[in-house]
Amino acid sequence: MTNNNLLEKIVSLCKRRGFIYPGSEIYGGFAGVYDYGPYGVLLRNNVAETWTRAMAAHDNINFIDSGIFTSPKVWEASGHVSGFNDPLIACLSCHSKLRADHLLESVGVSADEKMSEKELNKVFDAHRKKIKCPVCDKKSFGKVVKKTLMATSTLGNLDEKDKDVYLRAETAQGIFINFKNFLDFGCSVPFGIAQVGKVFRNEISPRQFMFRKREFEQMEMQYFTYPRDVDVAYSAWKKERMAYYETIGISAEHLRWKKHERLVFYAKDAWDIEYSFPFGWGEIEGVHHRGDYDLKQHQKYSGVDFSVLDEGVGEKYIPYVVETSAGLDRVIFALLAEAYDEDKVGGETRTVLRFLPRIAPIKVAVFPLLKNKPKLVSKARDIYKTLKKDLLFVAFDDNGNIGKRYRRQDEIGTPYCVTVDFQTLEDDTVTVRDRDTVKQARVKVGELIDYITKEL
Ligand code: ATP
Repeated sequence: MTNNNLLEKIVSLCKRRGFIYPGSEIYGGFAGVYDYGPYGVLLRNNVAETWTRAMAAHDNINFIDSGIFTSPKVWEASGHVSGFNDPLIACLSCHSKLRADHLLESVGVSADEKMSEKELNKVFDAHRKKIKCPVCDKKSFGKVVKKTLMATSTLGNLDEKDKDVYLRAETAQGIFINFKNFLDFGCSVPFGIAQVGKVFRNEISPRQFMFRKREFEQMEMQYFTYPRDVDVAYSAWKKERMAYYETIGISAEHLRWKKHERLVFYAKDAWDIEYSFPFGWGEIEGVHHRGDYDLKQHQKYSGVDFSVLDEGVGEKYIPYVVETSAGLDRVIFALLAEAYDEDKVGGETRTVLRFLPRIAPIKVAVFPLLKNKPKLVSKARDIYKTLKKDLLFVAFDDNGNIGKRYRRQDEIGTPYCVTVDFQTLEDDTVTVRDRDTVKQARVKVGELIDYITKEL
């Protein structure tokens, strides 16, 4: 299977099986936005829960759910209003809007994020002849223009003199502006604040399915530490965050570290965890050493004192921050790519999502062998209800032949299928079929929950 094929197959399975739909599809779509369907929501929740649990395992990490809207001053102080830009260039032939830095990279030239528009245009002009439009293959481009990634809104803007406000472009700022509240709540350095939530970025060319969206979710944690301890904390978090991906079923060979050679305005050191997506390596999480940049900026702009007393030394200091910032949608895309498999069962090709059971949206499906035998259906319904009480995410399916029902559950990634047949009515046993081995075991109904939960 080529990688392009794999991407197409994942996109089509996501739509067919109710994981992910293109946004506003009935109106021709809306670039950079996707809607999660019934199984997509469960998958999303499971991934977010694994992350939340990994954070909650620490004694000194608390959670926050901060507003999507904030005072515009937050983004002036953070540096986003002046510095959070991407260089846009238009293809004069097909009118596609493209990232000038990505085009330069395609001919081996790296464009620094700190470069001004003038500098970018100079570099682009020097290489213009070699650069092809990835959409139409032509070599005719306009000028590079820096475009802000901040999305604006008129929320609360009822007067002409009111300024537009920004939708948050990262969850981190909601954490920094609440730093003092957490100190008053009783946290003492070192401690972390964690948050899962939506963010918005006006990406120039949203593409590659869930990879570059305009509305997406982040799972971020800001860890406040003594400046003298920051290096130790930074390497511990790097190690922990990489190990996390194996616990959710991503194999080490599809993960790698990438160091940022060109640091953004706030970072002192920055590494990305990359996944080998069907289109190539791409970032799923950034682990950044942000120093005291953010707290100092908010202290300066708000006038609120963010310094903390180091009791050992008797001096006040501004804590340093280690940030772990994962993109939930990209992690979900990585999990789909990782789990997608095709094999042969009974001479036929089947598609299967080999999710770990903790990630799978549905844990077990229950089938009556035949739809038109009331005793089988009623027994299967009873078993379904009992399992649902414990496992919640259980499916009942009596549609089509058993083979088709297995195929459906394989495509969703359901680890177990339970079938109620005529033998069940005689000896109260059912078959439990394992998604990966496709082997069936005969299990007593009374022992079913233990059997399944043990495997889960
Ligand atoms: P990129 O270089 O790919 O644009 P970034 O360096 O701007 O990403 P960060 O600002 O570090 O990304 O954001 C943290 C995480 O948020 C990323 O690791 C990624 O998983 C996710 N993320 C960033 N931009 C997007 C996007 N447009 N769509 C989906 N997820 C995103």
